[in-house]
Amino acid sequence: MAICLLLFFSMPTRQIKEAEKLMKKINWALIGYGGMGNWHVKQLQTMPEEINICGVYDILPEKNKAAEENGLKAYPSLEALLADPQIELVTIATPNDVHESIAIQAMDAGKNVISEKPVTLTCASLQRMIDASKRNGVKFSVHQNRRWDEDYLVAKKLYEENTLGKIFRIESRVHGSRGIPGDWRNKKAQGGGMVFDWGIHLFDQILMLTGGMKVTSVYAMESNVTNEEVDDGFTVVLTFEDGLKVLVEVGTSNFIGLPRWYILGENGSARCGWNVEKGKITMVSDWEKRDAVPVVTAAGLTKTMAPRTSDTIKEYPLPRVESDVRDYYRNFIKAICGEEEQFVTHEQMMRDLALVEAVFESAAKNEVIKREI
Ligand code: NAD
Repeated sequence: MAICLLLFFSMPTRQIKEAEKLMKKINWALIGYGGMGNWHVKQLQTMPEEINICGVYDILPEKNKAAEENGLKAYPSLEALLADPQIELVTIATPNDVHESIAIQAMDAGKNVISEKPVTLTCASLQRMIDASKRNGVKFSVHQNRRWDEDYLVAKKLYEENTLGKIFRIESRVHGSRGIPGDWRNKKAQGGGMVFDWGIHLFDQILMLTGGMKVTSVYAMESNVTNEEVDDGFTVVLTFEDGLKVLVEVGTSNFIGLPRWYILGENGSARCGWNVEKGKITMVSDWEKRDAVPVVTAAGLTKTMAPRTSDTIKEYPLPRVESDVRDYYRNFIKAICGEEEQFVTHEQMMRDLALVEAVFESAAKNEVIKREI
């Protein structure tokens, strides 16, 4: 310790400033100590150099008790947490309908805010949150952690590097078979349903993957297999300005799941699951060699749909990428310190919600929504 101090005081001013930056720790607190709140605490406990965990507040006393049993300080009320002057950043991990009111209260108390996804339920509500962030000069963002998923980063790499030739179709799916969890996710008023739960992740990924290219039309179908009040799944088709078609699908009654990603380019196709290692790329090696052994069924014959012979295609493993989801917090801390732009911007948040609004509108009207998003 003494040696550290000696070294510190013998540094030139510029180096001291750099060291101070490195030594800057953010004082953080959590609102909503449920499933995802626990996840945040556990992640941030692995970042003691960057984050000091001040405590948590949950509306349920038993959750606060659980927090104390886990060695965390539990604040007796939201007001008490927001009145603690040492707290600089709060993460909100409550049900979706109260993100707006808590975030605005926290920003009005001078706190920087990360909201869990979906940031809120409408574009108008998001605008009020952005206004609060500007009015108070604090940073505000949403936790789009699935931008760090390896399967997504691999799909993005294939798209950006044109590995398959010009990509004309992308299908992004998550399929489960347990219906919707029986909590607030079943309730419309609380922002339940799969569009808000998983859709927002998948839409955000596709809008990031396509690098700012505009969506020109949206068609959506919702499913209500296990739940009438909110959607328990959906299929959405997006058309982009260069003609790219993207299918985004969430299902909760899919006892046989389809691949997480299915990507078609002019020279090859890729399939990728949660486990990237098990995916593959198949590329055409000789386009001209199209002869095939016909597939014969009892009722007919086809050469067009017969599989290619192995001498005209080549298979490759998917590329691998490194990622660390804690970079989300690292970036946001740097944004608070004025050293980096925040990774998930207000414009991106607004675009994600504009897409969600178009999805709900299309499903309700059973119409294609032709709108630039
Ligand atoms: P949960 O029900 O497990 O936890 C929510 C907690 O918030 C509960 O403990 C509840 O008592 C508390 N709460 C409710 N109202 C409150 C209020 N007004 N003030 C303080 N506490 C309140 O739900 P969850 O699965 O943890 O989801 C929470 C949020 O996290 C949701 O917005 C959800 O969409 C999001 N989420 C994100 C991811 C992700 O990968 N980014 C994953 C799961 C959930």
